[in-house]
Formats: sequence, C-alpha cells, structure tokens
Amino acid sequence: MDIAVPKEIKNHEYRVGMTPGGVKELTAAGHRVRVQQGAGAAIGLTDEQYAAAGAELVAEAAELFERAEMIVKVKEPQAEEYRLLKPGQLLFTYLHLAPDLPQTEGLLASGCTAIAYETVTDAQGGLPLLAPMSEVAGRMAVQAGAHCLEKAQGGRGVLLGGVPGVAPARVLILGGGVVGINAARMALGMGADVTLFDKSLPRLKELDALYGPALKSLYSTRDAIEAELPRADLVIGAVLVPGASAPRLVTRDMLALLPAGAVLVDVAIDQGGCFETSRATTHQQPTFEVDGIIHYCVANMPGAVARTSTFALTNATLPFVQALANKGWRRALQEDEHLAAGLNVHRGEVVYPAVAEAHGLDC
Ligand code: NAD
Repeated sequence: MDIAVPKEIKNHEYRVGMTPGGVKELTAAGHRVRVQQGAGAAIGLTDEQYAAAGAELVAEAAELFERAEMIVKVKEPQAEEYRLLKPGQLLFTYLHLAPDLPQTEGLLASGCTAIAYETVTDAQGGLPLLAPMSEVAGRMAVQAGAHCLEKAQGGRGVLLGGVPGVAPARVLILGGGVVGINAARMALGMGADVTLFDKSLPRLKELDALYGPALKSLYSTRDAIEAELPRADLVIGAVLVPGASAPRLVTRDMLALLPAGAVLVDVAIDQGGCFETSRATTHQQPTFEVDGIIHYCVANMPGAVARTSTFALTNATLPFVQALANKGWRRALQEDEHLAAGLNVHRGEVVYPAVAEAHGLDC
C-alpha cells in the first residue's frame, strides 16, 4: 500500500503520525511509505532517519496526498488538507468530528474514508488510541503541578516530596482512570502523600490491589472532597463521564477551603473542566489565578512533550496501520470490530451515529 505521513500544520503541533521505527516496520513488509520533508524535524526525527527506514521524502503536501492510498496523521485535517483528500483514500488520524461541522463537511465533500483514532475501541471497553495521550497527560500533570507549586510561579512554595524532617506535599487526584493512575504513579514516585477519588468501586479496588496502602483512596462525594481540600497542596482533575461534560467537583466556593497558593491542574479541561473556575489555557500562558489558587488548564498537554507523545502514539497506532495496510481497510474492519468502531466517514456519508446525531445527519 502507498502510505503518506504529512508534516502536521496545526498551530504548535510538533508531533508526527509515524516514527522512523514505525516506517521501517511498514517498508519491511513491502509497503511504500512517503514522509513529508521536515515532518519530524522539530522533535529530532530527521529526514535522514526516515530515509534510512525506507521512506521516500516528499517536499510538498499536495504531492504527498496525490498518490496516497492511506494518510496517517496526528491532528484532524485542516481546511487546506481536507481539500487535498479524494474518494477512495483512507485517512487515519484523530478527528473529533462531533463539535467540528466545517471539518465534517470537508471530509464528506472529499469522498474519502476516515477512521478516527478516538473512537477505536478495545476488548476491555477502553479507547486504546486515546489512552497513550492520557498516560502522557497524567504523568505531566504532576510535573506541571510541582512546577506551579514553586513560589516564583505563584504557588505556595512546597516541594512535592518534602525532605527528611519535612512532610511531603499532599496531592489529591479526582478520577482514577488512565490520567488518574498515571498521575498517582508519578506523584507517589516523587514521594508525595497521594489520595485518589473515584466513583467506581471496582476501579478503587483495582487501584488498592495495585498500590496497597501507599495510595489512599476515597469514594468521590462532595463531602469527602471538601474534607480533604484544607490540607491539599495540589489537586489534579482527571475525571471523565463518557459523552458528557466533566462534572464540576470543585466549585468556586470550595476554593476558599484550600490553602493560599495551592495548585489545581485540570486535565479534564478538554471536556469543560472539573473545577468551576477552570478555563482552557495554552502552553504559552498555561496558568491563571483565582482567589489565590493557581490554575493550570492546558487543553493539549501532550503537545508539550511532542517527542514522547509521538513515540507513544505510534506504539498504539502501528498495529492498526499494519492491519489496514496488509489487509486493505474493508477486510481489516470486517475482521476487527474494534477497528471498525473507528470508521466515522465513508464516501460522503457520516457512518458514526454520535457524529451524525451531533450534526443532525442521517446515519
Ligand atoms: P478514564 O475514562 O480512563 O477515567 C475517568 C475516571 O473518572 C473513571 O475512572 C471514572 O470512574 C472517574 N469518574 C467519573 N466521575 C467521577 C466523579 N464524579 N468523581 C471521581 N471520579 C469520577 O478517562 P481518562 O483517559 O483518564 O481521561 C480523563 C480526562 O482527561 C478526559 O476528559 C480526557 O479527555 C482528558 N485528557 C486531557 C488531556 C489534556 O491534554 N488536557 C490529555 C488527555 C486526556
């Protein structure tokens, strides 16, 4: 199959759809992979590395798209990209079509077949192509929170791990899914005193079995959260209610319970945020302060560690790219219901019910 990996053009997007290692797996299996020049340059993946992996380097996106049977990307196609897509071409990338009518219309007009990373499922009921970015964001939440706790950042001047003779910081994690467990792992590793809240008892039991008494867990109620806030240094918001806005677990009134200079990191900001006072921020200006509490609410945290994120993403996408390339998309989807769950658009029609519903279309 002729596979194309373009350079991402969305503002401040430095990730790339495939690492040289991923390219090598595909070229070794007899596929032709073309990569746009400079696609990985910003994260130290050079054209020479791609060429050594068997890729052909192409200067212009238009030339790359023209001959491709499958296009593997990271972000949803931008307007100038979906104009290059054609009937019969397969697009495999994050799409997030439900809130994005112009892109949905662009893909429909192109006639391409589009499989969205975010709706591919797994046998455990998870979302295996979203999970790597949640892992990154969860781990980064602790690193970002630790930095914000420094005096110069407006924080209360607390070191996460403490030192001998001085107690460590107290970290509350709201939500024990992929983001929460990765945050817990980092916070425990840095020596913090960690309490995790979830509404799912099976999840709390799993975490208890995994971490033992090192990780304190609490059933998530307003009362339990209020009781813990007065002693918290860092609160990480990591909840998700699938298909819904994040529940507001810390209201503005509750900020008064926190010590001055405490830090809130709202990873769930992409679903509206789980703190009432959250609003989305960027890596250029990641924090703001409300009532003496520092808020970090960056909506695309993995973008800051684009190199790690690129490797994590390719690890997760590569088996699916290989199946699509080796079998052709029809057979690959027939044989794998989880990959089939990724199909969002086909030849001018939205075929994913939630996206069709969001735009008032038939499915
Ligand atoms: P997940 O489904 O793995 O976990 C969510 C957890 O929240 C579940 O364990 C669920 O039981 C729990 N939960 C639901 N309601 C709760 C409540 N009221 N109190 C406590 N826990 C509750 O989801 P995830 O992959 O960990 O993602 C969490 C959020 O992080 C999502 O909104 C996701 O989109 C977001 N995210 C953001 C970024 C970013 O850059 N900001 C990156 C990746 C993921």
